[in-house]
Amino acid sequence: MYLKKIVAQGFKSFADSTVIDLDPNIVEIVGPNGSGKSNVVDAIRWVLGEQSVKSLRGDGNMTDVIFAGSKSRKPMGIASVSLVFDNTDEYLPLDYQEIEIKRRLYKDGTNEFFINNEKVRLKDINDILMDSGIGKESFNIISQGKIEEILLSKPTERRTIFEEASGVLKYKKRKEEAIRKLDRTHDNMDRVKDIVSELEQQVEPLKEQKRKALEYIEYSEELKSLDIALSTNDIKELNDKYQKEKDLKEKLTLELASIEASNSKYEASISEAKEEYEASNKKISELQKSLLESTTKVEKLKSQKDILLERKQYEVDEPKLHNRIIELKEQELDINNKLGVSAYELKTLEENNKVTAIEIKSLEEKLVSLKDSRAKEEERLTNQIRNQKIIESKIRVLEESIEAGATLPYAVKSVLNHPKLRGIHNTIGRVIDTKDAYLKAITVALGAASNNIIVDNEKCASEAIQYLKNNQIGRATFYPLNIIEGKDLDSKIIDELRHEDGFISIASKLVTNDPIYDKIISNQLGNILVIDTLDHANKISKKYNYRYRIVTMDGELLHVGGSVTGGESKAKNPMNDKYELEKCNEEKKKIISNIETLESNINILDNNIQALSDEIYLKQKDYLISIENEKEKQRRNIELNDLLLETRNNITSTESMLNHSLSEEEDKALASFYEAREEQEKIRIQLEEEQNRLSVLNNNLALLEHNSKKENSLYMEKTKAIQELEIDINRIDVKLDNLLNMLSETYSMTYEYAIQNYPLEIDYDTAKLRISNLKKLIRDLGPINQQAPEEYDKVSSRYEFLIKQQDDLVQAENTLLDIIEQLDQVMAENFQKTFKVINENFNETFKELFKGGRASLELTDPDNILETGIEIIASPPGKSLKSISLLSGGEKTFTAISLLFAILKTRPMPFCILDEVEAALDEVNVESFGEYLSKLKKKTQFIVITHKKKTMEYADTLYGITMQESGVSKLVSVKLEDVEK
Ligand code: ATP
Repeated sequence: MYLKKIVAQGFKSFADSTVIDLDPNIVEIVGPNGSGKSNVVDAIRWVLGEQSVKSLRGDGNMTDVIFAGSKSRKPMGIASVSLVFDNTDEYLPLDYQEIEIKRRLYKDGTNEFFINNEKVRLKDINDILMDSGIGKESFNIISQGKIEEILLSKPTERRTIFEEASGVLKYKKRKEEAIRKLDRTHDNMDRVKDIVSELEQQVEPLKEQKRKALEYIEYSEELKSLDIALSTNDIKELNDKYQKEKDLKEKLTLELASIEASNSKYEASISEAKEEYEASNKKISELQKSLLESTTKVEKLKSQKDILLERKQYEVDEPKLHNRIIELKEQELDINNKLGVSAYELKTLEENNKVTAIEIKSLEEKLVSLKDSRAKEEERLTNQIRNQKIIESKIRVLEESIEAGATLPYAVKSVLNHPKLRGIHNTIGRVIDTKDAYLKAITVALGAASNNIIVDNEKCASEAIQYLKNNQIGRATFYPLNIIEGKDLDSKIIDELRHEDGFISIASKLVTNDPIYDKIISNQLGNILVIDTLDHANKISKKYNYRYRIVTMDGELLHVGGSVTGGESKAKNPMNDKYELEKCNEEKKKIISNIETLESNINILDNNIQALSDEIYLKQKDYLISIENEKEKQRRNIELNDLLLETRNNITSTESMLNHSLSEEEDKALASFYEAREEQEKIRIQLEEEQNRLSVLNNNLALLEHNSKKENSLYMEKTKAIQELEIDINRIDVKLDNLLNMLSETYSMTYEYAIQNYPLEIDYDTAKLRISNLKKLIRDLGPINQQAPEEYDKVSSRYEFLIKQQDDLVQAENTLLDIIEQLDQVMAENFQKTFKVINENFNETFKELFKGGRASLELTDPDNILETGIEIIASPPGKSLKSISLLSGGEKTFTAISLLFAILKTRPMPFCILDEVEAALDEVNVESFGEYLSKLKKKTQFIVITHKKKTMEYADTLYGITMQESGVSKLVSVKLEDVEK
């Protein structure tokens, strides 16, 4: 390789484009002082990357190198220098035969570098020149007055020249790079260590916090599920109880009303019985008074009769017979008297018995009628119970059908029943209600949309569609609540339509639904008109230019545009089932109420029948006794009649014996007496009867009062039961409210949602126990950092990453240390080897140039090859000098040149620039210098700037630099003869 061409423009004094073509021999540049020769050296060094303005002899700013102008020339804005190398020997590691390195500098300080016209960085240039021996600081470019510096510099500074000669610079650079990397690695390591130790302090507590937080989440989820499941279970049970108690309360209220009615009847009967009792009591008092009077009268008449009979005893002839007649007469009167009483008694008995018989008959008829009524009620009850069973089974079938979504397409059913799909509400058909009358119209108006599924948002819809796709279940349509907008008709049009014959309403107004579905319902039904008949519908449709979709009450559908669909649809609709179910439930309620009324009626009838039967039984018992009594009285009558007849016969026969009859006075007295006695007896009988009656009345009254009391206590019992039920119902109501509020406030869910999604899968008591365990577990966890899992994951992944990085850094450090060690080894070996050769060559070149003497190089620290300095020892012939500083100026220069030649010998460089290095040498030494140049020129191109003619003799090419135009350097070709002139 050699320097083929230098092209400069705008650089220092080279204002114009100056091309210096160079041969691979000795090229010398001559010219007067200040013509710009050294500027050529500066130009070369500048292109090779010189960054020090001072080295380029500038003032402090790199732009000093741009042509500054002269008297006749304006300053320039750009400095540009190119070096063209012949690289046919591929000395430089680039695949080019010729390499042009160019540097350009602008006034604003912008530098540009090019290799073969391709813009590159300075580093790229440094890289390819590294170890080529031609760097900006290489020993092959020796500026003016610098040759002696090699001797004057410190031993350690001198080392660089040897390093470059031994080709270790690239290793040194690599080592520096490696050390920089090592430093960076250490810095990184320190930083990573700091962070790792900081993270270490966080990781463990966070790990614990995460464990607690996860446990907390797990427990809370389980607690939530169980709490919801238990609550829904409680709600269901409470609701059932609530319904039952309400029904029971209604039943009891009905019974209470019936008891009330029967109680007022009792009260009326009791007051009637009391009145009767009072009347009887009064009658007894009266009879007692009459009896007393009658007894007094009898006593009086008896004493009158006895006195008369006493007196008559003494007046008659045959007192014995007379007495006998009197006796018999008395006997007759007595019997007569008894007969009278007995007849009276018999008559009363017969009358009473007749009345009793009629009463019994009437009671028996009443009993039969009550029994008939009961039988009828019983029959009704049986019918109602049968109906209840039928309706219940129908309800079960309907509920199962609704629950199983029997009318739904399979895909829709799958989505609704899939537990993992979130945000699924229900089908449109299942969220609305309508009256029976509108069912047909609404069903037709909705059509297939009835099975479209309402979802929270489009994300939920996408998830559901993905699920249908993945499982190849089928298709379904979704209505996201956050997207679907309503389609209500303008209110003006509705007002107008209201005046049309047959207009009923807008379909959306005929349904009821949860307000959250309003928009969806309006979207589906908000612009459909419901008209009573097809006839009216046709007229309205025509009048409004077939603009509206219309359904009739009979289910005909008039489409927009005028087409009509009608007939009977066979498709099952979920609304039908729901409607049917509602109807059935109402029917069931009615039946249950009927059953309760019937049961209550039967109960009351049973009580009445029992009471009546008891009454009849008692009456019959009394009646039989009374009949027996009557018969007895009849027998007694006959006996008395016989006795009367016999007594009268005796009287007749006795009177005929005496032929005397009793005096009129006697007869009268006797008659009055017995008459009074008869009267007295009658009163006594009446009294006795009345007393009996009073006793019966008393019993009746007691019975009535007893029954009334019984009814009363039943009434109280039922009232109390109703009150208790009311309290319980209120309590349940509050509990239900609380539970429902809790569901909605704590868990933001409806009961329906909760019951569908949170079934109680374990036994109730076990669940309760688990809940209290979970609460304790959660309490024991203490305060929870909810963010801990996230924070821990973040911190621990960072921690792990940093640990890995730390390992990587340790590995990198080891690798770098290995590299440095290897580089040190290579450098030490190369340095030592080269040093040895240079040392030998130095001695040789010195001797050759000085024509004797001796010189050598010494390592100042041989044990530290990598840092050792180099001492130069030189003794020109015949001199023994201890220090090179004591050498003369010329000797110093010549010693330095010897060293330069020794180095070039050891490691030939492609070119070498020497700026007046031999200026201080005498003629003889310049000759030696020139000869040596000639010796080395085969391997090294020399560009020599000189003033010495002797040196010029050795030039193969000679250039002159002049400064004809003031301030601008010019290149001229010069011949040696020209110089000599
Ligand atoms: P000598 O033989 O004395 O060493 P020389 O030929 O090496 O001289 P140089 O040092 O190369 O001369 O050139 C110096 C000249 O270059 C000076 O005249 C100086 O004014 C001129 N010069 C330096 N920088 C600039 C610049 N930026 N613009 C114009 N001229 C410049």
